[in-house]
Amino acid sequence: MRSDLLAPDFKSTPYWWEGTPRPDLGDPELPAAVDVAIVGAGYTGLCAALQVARGGRSTLVLDGADAGWGCSTRNGGQISTSVKPQFDELTHKHGAETAFRIIREGHAALAWIGEFIAAERIQCDFRIPGRFHAAHTRRQYIRMARDIEHQPRGLEVPAHVVPRAEQHRELGTDAYFGGVVFENHASLDPGRFHQGLLERALAAGALVVPYCPVTGVGHSGPGFVVNTGRGVVRARDVVIATNGYTGAITPWLRRRVVPIGSYIIATEPLPPAVMDRLMPSERIVSDSRKVVHYYRPSPDRTRILFGGRVTSGETRARKGATLLHHNLVALFPELSRTRISHSWMGFVAYSFDTLAHVGRHDGVYYAMGYCGSGVSMASYLGTRIGQQVLGLAAGRTAFDGLRFPARPLYHGKPWFLPAAVSWYCLRDRLNL
Ligand SMILES: Cc1cc2nc3c(=O)[nH]c(=O)nc-3n(C[C@H](O)[C@H](O)[C@H](O)COP(=O)(O)OP(=O)(O)OC[C@H]3O[C@@H](n4cnc5c(N)ncnc54)[C@H](O)[C@@H]3O)c2cc1C
Repeated sequence: MRSDLLAPDFKSTPYWWEGTPRPDLGDPELPAAVDVAIVGAGYTGLCAALQVARGGRSTLVLDGADAGWGCSTRNGGQISTSVKPQFDELTHKHGAETAFRIIREGHAALAWIGEFIAAERIQCDFRIPGRFHAAHTRRQYIRMARDIEHQPRGLEVPAHVVPRAEQHRELGTDAYFGGVVFENHASLDPGRFHQGLLERALAAGALVVPYCPVTGVGHSGPGFVVNTGRGVVRARDVVIATNGYTGAITPWLRRRVVPIGSYIIATEPLPPAVMDRLMPSERIVSDSRKVVHYYRPSPDRTRILFGGRVTSGETRARKGATLLHHNLVALFPELSRTRISHSWMGFVAYSFDTLAHVGRHDGVYYAMGYCGSGVSMASYLGTRIGQQVLGLAAGRTAFDGLRFPARPLYHGKPWFLPAAVSWYCLRDRLNL
């Protein structure tokens, strides 16, 4: 590692934690019984809690670390339509009607989050700057432009093509072959958004207990008994909201989600003229690589936050800083001397069909598998699963009833990941 790569005040914790320090929730006592126990205090768990607490249920949210310690305060704050498979692929698997409804649900989640943040008055730098999705090969550019021209009827999104000759309007690099701007994609500060959700859930009457790992969930009469590191709680309903941190307490779910590390760095503050040259607008950015780069200006436009997958296996934040810096400089050579102030990672959850899943197994509710795009989808499906617990029709989603696939020989440790990531990196290098 270059000795001067890390800023003197370098931290291996999320940049967002500077503006929103980890919440101090004290040391609340566990109740003996509640209506609803929720495992995980990220966006999914807190949005579910908000619904059930406002619906009059006594609500307990338990997290093994501090509230928001998982992905929900570690992400890039980029918001898209959050459904990875294309319409054709979904049609092939589920039929045209279900495919249509699933894609529409992604659109609904994107529209919903802006309305929700406004209605709840959450101050979290929410903006709709659009996304520049950059083509890393000429072939990808042609494919993207064609896809935008031929969007499925009824599923059109506002978007326009940016040819390579006009790319500098979007980004100060020649490394791409043009791209597409998705005009209604949004951004926020994930730490502030999480804090806003936490405050709303507490105000609604939910009890949020940090540093209280759940060690088992079992049936007991008509309800459940929830074992924790700090005692036992009886609950009428249980919601699992653990996404990329889903563990041994829910083996059925653990077999269905693959934890994959995603890594981000923050640069030290850059001169305004450099920011204006490299990232002339507020747009969020992603590219067409299989092993995608995603980046954006910080909300105050002082830094670039640059994320992606750095190695075939998992690595430490310091090593991640070196590798991500290398990728950043490949796009913006003038940042070769720029130092890194923060480098961090978190575990997202991929499902085997790259769709989010929501529902109930063996009486336990769950929502997870956002495949790295969960800012709006986790919040949206957390809300919907909370409504399902309340028995409300509003809780229905296009994901209901979809089979949640597992794979033989997979029990939660992704032994196949290094080979899969290496294969995707090779495809990116060969421009396949
Ligand atoms: C680096 C990175 C960048 C990302 N960038 C983006 C982005 O730009 N846009 C986007 O849409 N998405 C992004 N994501 C994904 C997004 O952050 C997640 O999909 C979303 O936050 C998931 O929220 P969640 O509440 O379901 O899970 P999490 O926020 O991960 O919360 C799960 C919680 O469950 C707790 N838990 C687990 N097991 C137990 C147990 N047994 N007992 C008690 N508690 C337990 C964990 O401690 C954790 O706090 C990114 C993720 C990462 C890591």
